[in-house]
Amino acid sequence: MPSDLTSDVPGRPEGQRRAPIAIHLLAFAGAVTVAVLTARFARWDVASLVMIATLTVVSDLTSVETGSKLKVSGSFLGLLLAAVLLGGAPAALIGVTTILVGWFRWREDGHYLRNNLVAFAWFPLIGGLFFYAATNVAHVTSSDLNYYLLVFAAFLVSLTLNFVMVVGYQCWLDRSSVACKALEVCVPFLPSELFSALLTMVAVYVAVQVGVTGLALFALVLVIFQYLVGELLISKHRSETLQRMATTDELTGLANRERFRARIEQEIKECTKDGCPFGVMLMDLDHFKEINDTLGHDYGDVLLRELGPRVAAAVGPGGLVARLGGDEFAVLPEAHTDDPRVLEDVAADLLASVQKPFVVEEFSLEISASIGIARFPVDGRDAHTLLRRADIAMYSAKERESGYGLFSADQDQHSMQRLSALSDFRRAIEAGELILHYQPIVDLPDLHVHGAEALVRWQHPDQGLIPPAEFIQVVEQSGMIALLTRSVLDSAIRQCAQWRLTGEQLSVSVNLSVRNLLDSALPQDIEELLARYLLPPQALKLEITESMIMSDPDRALATITQLSQLGVRFSVDDFGTGYSSLAYLRGLPLDELKIDRSFVSPMLTDSSDLIIVRSTINLAHDLGLTIVGEGVEDGPTLAWLAQLGCDRAQGYHLARPMPAARFEEWIDANGDQSSSRAVA
Ligand code: C2E
Ligand code: CA
Ligand code: CA
Repeated sequence: MPSDLTSDVPGRPEGQRRAPIAIHLLAFAGAVTVAVLTARFARWDVASLVMIATLTVVSDLTSVETGSKLKVSGSFLGLLLAAVLLGGAPAALIGVTTILVGWFRWREDGHYLRNNLVAFAWFPLIGGLFFYAATNVAHVTSSDLNYYLLVFAAFLVSLTLNFVMVVGYQCWLDRSSVACKALEVCVPFLPSELFSALLTMVAVYVAVQVGVTGLALFALVLVIFQYLVGELLISKHRSETLQRMATTDELTGLANRERFRARIEQEIKECTKDGCPFGVMLMDLDHFKEINDTLGHDYGDVLLRELGPRVAAAVGPGGLVARLGGDEFAVLPEAHTDDPRVLEDVAADLLASVQKPFVVEEFSLEISASIGIARFPVDGRDAHTLLRRADIAMYSAKERESGYGLFSADQDQHSMQRLSALSDFRRAIEAGELILHYQPIVDLPDLHVHGAEALVRWQHPDQGLIPPAEFIQVVEQSGMIALLTRSVLDSAIRQCAQWRLTGEQLSVSVNLSVRNLLDSALPQDIEELLARYLLPPQALKLEITESMIMSDPDRALATITQLSQLGVRFSVDDFGTGYSSLAYLRGLPLDELKIDRSFVSPMLTDSSDLIIVRSTINLAHDLGLTIVGEGVEDGPTLAWLAQLGCDRAQGYHLARPMPAARFEEWIDANGDQSSSRAVA
């Protein structure tokens, strides 16, 4: 296929664009001088000149972009044809005309234009002079076969010259090595250049034997041929782009789910032939949602984009990494084996690559992930089953916080149970299987019972009492959390109102989930419940966490404001475990902070926890908030909290969560003597 090399248009750094104008001018003047001096040896046959010039210009204008710096066209062939049939000077004239006409189409920078003018003047000139000299020295005429071989040689000589001028200039601009460029440019184009040289031989033969008519016919065929090849290349390019888009994840540049599935199916086909097993991994980032929620989706995207190449590098060229969506990735390791140790080593390497800190603007973020591994053929014989089981293994690794783990059959059982439990859930709420336990919250230092936190449990007919940790998250994901919270609020408000009738001025705390805060119907629901059970709004406390507020601050703030205008109180739960700061919370209508038990429980054995507890108490007070220490598991901790000025306490040392009836007994037994038990 005919092709030529012309310097390309794309931008170079500004500083490098200042080409040596003087050299270009000198070279061009040289070409003009040589052309003028040799003009009298040339054949100035106007019909052929016009014919070849038209062929060259049209060919250049319809050249095919290859996506690299090269254009494919028959203009080179046209120039050589002119050089051989007419001579160097007319060929150089056609070369310069081609570049000038082409400029109106391509509008390349001035320095490229100059370089191309020089190149397109010189190489047909040299080609023509070479051919003229060679045929004279060898005494060959158009009736000899050698005449046509010299056409071939002339083509190669000018091609080399063209290469040196265009590629050399490009290297000078890029500051890259000519050898590299030579490989980059020559290797893919060598076959087409040789073909081009052959075509030139044929063209010369046709022109010599048939004359101008033959030449015109040849030119027509060539231009049509070039057009067809161009269309072919464009449609191939288009289908490659479409193919790439359909199998690539846009954000990370990794493979997408379809490509991964196709690859697994292909591996399975090959494995059934030669019997080699392999592993499939599913990786899910831990707490990615919180990063997204607190720092914004842009940060999340930047992080995922950086993660892609890292994970791909850790897996190696023989493996495959795909992003399945969100923060979920699938991996086919390079090593084809079902050896658990090898697969676990790969998983450990992957985790290590994920855990290296990410720098996003001024933040340095550290994330971790959980990886589940399923093996072909023991865990599944098709892509769908393998991915599902890797997913189950991943969840199990996440729950155990083990980083990674292999699938085992009992995990499948467990996940089935989870699903059937979930379908049970709606019925369970209606059947009243959700019950509340109450854990006392006492004032410090007098241990007066201030109120209770309502903690939900599921009294399952077959499985017994199920703790909230086992179902809350699944209920949240399934969208039934509004039902659950409403049911908890109903019981807790009713219960608290009942206690207050007997003279105990207690308050009740209810835990909310993130979705509840975004639910615009919540304030009205709560208002109705308070009115129905005649509970003063001040007796209800809603526990929310920092990350719940940050997930959608505007909507969360609207709900919080509406409820606090009713008189309902707000507590920040698990304080210290999220990403936000007291300074941010200052703008919200909050009443209480509950410092997380992970700081309180160990505060007497770990001095840094003690420092955190003490400074949090002080900061909370400065902001006018009361503070509750959670997770008080022994007397000395309780005494220290009182000493540090903490307002309230909650924990196993005081009482475990218990059913309403037991809570009443507990109050009867402890309430009266609270002041005598007071801590110092
Ligand atoms: P939480 O809000 O932090 O609730 C306190 C949890 O700490 C309770 O666990 C309680 O039994 C436990 N705890 C209390 N004192 C101590 C102590 O001294 N030491 C230790 N180690 N733990 C103590 P529980 O009842 O299993 O609840 C777990 C979580 O489930 C709660 O954490 C809360 O986030 C969630 N939850 C409970 N009930 C509800 C509910 O009605 N709605 C929602 N959305 N979440 C709930
Ligand atoms: Ca709580
Ligand atoms: Ca808590």
